[in-house]
Amino acid sequence: MLAARETTDVLILDWPGDCEEAALYSLGRALLLAGTQILELDSRELAIGLKRRSTGESSILLYDATPGGAGHCLELMNLGRDWLQKAGQILRGTPDHHAACRRACLDCLLDFSGQFDAHRLDRKKALQLLEGGLNPV
Ligand SMILES: [Zn+2]
Repeated sequence: MLAARETTDVLILDWPGDCEEAALYSLGRALLLAGTQILELDSRELAIGLKRRSTGESSILLYDATPGGAGHCLELMNLGRDWLQKAGQILRGTPDHHAACRRACLDCLLDFSGQFDAHRLDRKKALQLLEGGLNPV
């Protein structure tokens, strides 16, 4: 077994309720893509994962992929709602895209760094999760 330890910047987004993994993971990918577009970064400069909390619920873990951290997570956190709305735009896309794309495609969530986890993507469930958070009933 090989192991390494690196210090980096991390942003943990707790999402209340019992969320489906595909929805949460896809929302994480959308937040990553939105963040890298806003900050004009390569999408490989940020990474995501899901983290199980002690309550059994999961959180989105977003971190700088650069060893030592580059401060991108803090910049995104400070953007707040603009960042979340950009993620929503990526998930929804154009009306044609929204009607045609079932889980993920190259126009929304699929990119080079996310291709190996394509089976975990479901943009419609992520969009429901995000819109529910942005527009609580
Ligand atoms: Zn798509």
